[in-house]
Amino acid sequence: MARWVLHIDMDAFYASCEQLTRPTLKGRPVLVAGVTGRGVVAGASYEARKYGARSAMPTHRAARLVGPKAVLVAPRRAVYSVASHRVFEVIARHVDVVEQLSIDEAFMEPAELVGATPEQVTEWANDLRAEIRSETGLPSSIGAGPGKQYAKIGSGRAKPDGVFVIPHERQLEILHPMPVSELWGVGPVTEAKLAAAGIATIGDLAHLSEKELDIALGGAVGRQLWWLAQGIDDRPVAPRAEAKQISSEHTYPQDLTTPPEVDEALKRAAAESHRRLVKDGRGARTVTVKLRMADFRIESRSATLPYATDDDETLLATAFKLVRYPDEVGPIRLVGVSYSGLEDSLQDVLFPELDQAIVKPRPVSTDYETGVSDHAGEPEVEVVREGEPAGAAGRWSATQDVFHPDFGHGWVQGAGKGWVTVRFETRATGPGKIKSLRADDPQLTPADPLDSLAWGDWLGRE
Ligand SMILES: [Mg+2]
Repeated sequence: MARWVLHIDMDAFYASCEQLTRPTLKGRPVLVAGVTGRGVVAGASYEARKYGARSAMPTHRAARLVGPKAVLVAPRRAVYSVASHRVFEVIARHVDVVEQLSIDEAFMEPAELVGATPEQVTEWANDLRAEIRSETGLPSSIGAGPGKQYAKIGSGRAKPDGVFVIPHERQLEILHPMPVSELWGVGPVTEAKLAAAGIATIGDLAHLSEKELDIALGGAVGRQLWWLAQGIDDRPVAPRAEAKQISSEHTYPQDLTTPPEVDEALKRAAAESHRRLVKDGRGARTVTVKLRMADFRIESRSATLPYATDDDETLLATAFKLVRYPDEVGPIRLVGVSYSGLEDSLQDVLFPELDQAIVKPRPVSTDYETGVSDHAGEPEVEVVREGEPAGAAGRWSATQDVFHPDFGHGWVQGAGKGWVTVRFETRATGPGKIKSLRADDPQLTPADPLDSLAWGDWLGRE
């Protein structure tokens, strides 16, 4: 009986959560990123991707690509985490075996689809996506095929908001013209080796003889890729344990003997671990730096932060406090950075770092209703560079969740000169009105970002 593996991937998950809970952002190029403009993009809406913006891109670069229409929104992990739990609750109603890969991605192998036709698989996948959409408001895509590799390729083809099924009999026809980099496990190093051997497509790889393969790649990994390229992928779908730590380390062929070399190695390991941390969707409280010296001594030093964060600057700064240099410890061979104490709930908006920027003054009026007509305009969230005086706006940070008893839940669009402009809206309200309030208005208070989901009934059941 034919096997069907499905891969579900939420579409632009972080940005979609922002557009869901702040309806004014629907249809706009949203960059989920530190509002300071430093660091990297954690998520980009499809509207922002049209300009070439991508996650993991430096924020300033993505913002430049999108131009003045870009809406920078500070990440709200607590919201994404809750949204993810709800998505997976829907999935669990339909599938027994789910292998979650990250906050918004999973493999599934529904028992009821064994031996199904491609049409039946498409229908099943569309039903699941419709249920997720109606219950959470979030778009997803699903790929399906005879193994994990095909399912994953399929979801890439399905995006956004679609289904792409690779039938058994068409698998090689679809797979072989694709660039070899689309195969699982082909990183830049392997890709370079394959390119050097004149292999560009998956089909090129599949058509190698075993001897040619050993010359081009060699090793067990090469063999596994070769099987995948032939369309043979019987890896099981199995639930995985949640990672307790995320780490990255490299051994260097030549001893690191100068501080700049060690700094580069530290940044590299920290950046790789950070990428995976963001994908995982959690934040870390503990940073560990591991060094192995040329004489094989190993030293690990850790520091624990008062709260979990996924802010790359904060994590890197902590790593720099821990690292030691060759003048103290001798030549270094290996540098690693690991993040542990992983937590779902991050406090990145209610407790912004002191150096995190405050919003820049924007024209405001004393008339509360003035802003309403700017509905068609851009919600400009502008940002002050570090060191500029925050003034009365210092109380409020860009895109922070707030509450006012007269207007409800909202988020800060801009502030300055003693005023703060707030867009009052949640998932449940539809696009909201903008109000200008005095920055020291005693009725305006910081709010729980989860209130923007307006899922009180569902959250209460947890
Ligand atoms: Mg996704």
